[in-house]
Amino acid sequence: MPRMATRTPSADVRTGEIVRSNDAAPSSWGLGDGAAIPWEYAPAPESRDVVTLKERYGLFIGGKDVAASDGETFATINPATEEPLAQVARGTAADMDRAVRAARSAFRRSWGSMPGKERAKYLYRIARILQERSREFAVLESMDSGKPIKESRDVDVPLAAAHFWYYAGWADKLEYAFPGRVAKPLGVAGQIIPWNFPLLMLAWKIAPALAAGNTVVLKPASTTPLSALLFADVCRQADLPPGVVNIVPGPGEVGMALVTHPGVDKVAFTGSTDIGKKIYKGVAGTDKGLTLELGGKAANIVFDDAPLDQAVEGIVNGIYFNQGEVCCAGSRLLAQESIVEPLIEKLKDRLGTIRVGDPLDKNTDVGAINSRAQLEKITELVAAGRAEGAEMYQPACDLPDRGYFFRPTLFTNVAQSSRIAREEIFGPVLSVLTFRTPEEAVEKANNTPYGLSAGVWTDKGSRILHMVKRMKAGVVWANTFNRFDPTSPFGGYKESGFGREGGMHGLHAYVRLEDR
Ligand code: NDP
Repeated sequence: MPRMATRTPSADVRTGEIVRSNDAAPSSWGLGDGAAIPWEYAPAPESRDVVTLKERYGLFIGGKDVAASDGETFATINPATEEPLAQVARGTAADMDRAVRAARSAFRRSWGSMPGKERAKYLYRIARILQERSREFAVLESMDSGKPIKESRDVDVPLAAAHFWYYAGWADKLEYAFPGRVAKPLGVAGQIIPWNFPLLMLAWKIAPALAAGNTVVLKPASTTPLSALLFADVCRQADLPPGVVNIVPGPGEVGMALVTHPGVDKVAFTGSTDIGKKIYKGVAGTDKGLTLELGGKAANIVFDDAPLDQAVEGIVNGIYFNQGEVCCAGSRLLAQESIVEPLIEKLKDRLGTIRVGDPLDKNTDVGAINSRAQLEKITELVAAGRAEGAEMYQPACDLPDRGYFFRPTLFTNVAQSSRIAREEIFGPVLSVLTFRTPEEAVEKANNTPYGLSAGVWTDKGSRILHMVKRMKAGVVWANTFNRFDPTSPFGGYKESGFGREGGMHGLHAYVRLEDR
């Protein structure tokens, strides 16, 4: 589907300054040089009516909506408007203790010994309810996180439901997942998730844990607690036994209280590498299971025989999807020298058609950055890129007056040593580097402390196989990017963490295998 814009890409490539000019169409549109764009998208806002926001949300412990032990709450903000959406109970270490006890009791009394086919029924029910309430979840997720409605509607919510469908299928087939072994649940899983895919990360964590017979305590990120609290409602609707799922929003130290709680048997974390290291220390010396899914700095490698127009779509999807707030984002474009110029031209053209704005508008491609802190981090790293001599390009699109927005950004002339080529920016910022030979591409791609994902664009299957074998990345996409499926394992190497989520591999982290 063609995407249209009303603004011309007119930033000065040397200074990066935005120069507003007439609304000229990119040359690839074939309207003639400098021709004005003859149309404008009308606003297409998704209705908020499907969501009933409560003024206050409690913690979800033992199947009940409860206040925090000290009565404290915090506000969750809509990043597109900077307005508070609701007050949420701010869990404490004492609340974590309550939640872990509730999970332990549910594990002992019902869930841990329930036959797999009975557990499966609950998971199927949850999947169905997520599908039935998908619009409500999508709108709420976009309001709380800033992501565009077309992504929460078409990616986050359907994939979250798909994870529950998929793991429901495994619940009564664990003996086939681990032939010759008996798979026993571990007990209580403590799970901490980030703000970039709040509902989807919840599904990645909760679905395999429940399928394998564990109970869970989950801490959502403080900027995006609402979809997890709406999920609590789904658990009630599905008649899930009280205590099987517990949800405790709260600050980082409350997350650490979960990690170090002696009643927790397994810890699963997705988030920054810095906090991942702290969590690693928190479980050291215990026999708790641990999986860490941390940061990334993926290389998206484009060879000179790649179909360039398709590659441009893949690059755009790789870095501007979800405002670039994606651990596996293709944030480093490695372009073969012979095609770098036409590729950059096409990319700039394409950037001019990206629509930045209201996350609830169905035409929006790039929504709001999740928080002021994240916007400041992106702004700081972009300034560092310019100070280090990289050339910045941004399309001259209008940004809303309020809210945390950032223009899609492209850096060329980036040194391998520069901060924007090394650090996870977690924003809509692409750094372009070049290479001459496949060996150089592999070396540059692997020259990072991370190893979560990568992409290869080429016409030759043999070259794809050659590259894939040499790249230290948990996932390598070939002639596509950012594709996810519940049947497919996902996870990293090096500082991107360890353990796999998704697929049969994702069950492994939630079972103890015994001989028959
Ligand atoms: P964090 O890693 O701090 O947050 C992820 C989750 O961990 C949140 O639920 C957070 O809670 C919780 N948490 C924070 N501190 C602790 C702690 N000491 N013990 C246990 N849990 C804790 O990420 P940020 O939100 O601070 O983002 C910072 C950077 O991390 C981003 O700019 C990005 O580069 C990267 N990031 C990477 C992600 C990924 O998927 N790879 C996801 C998110 C961020 P709370 O929200 O209350 O702080």
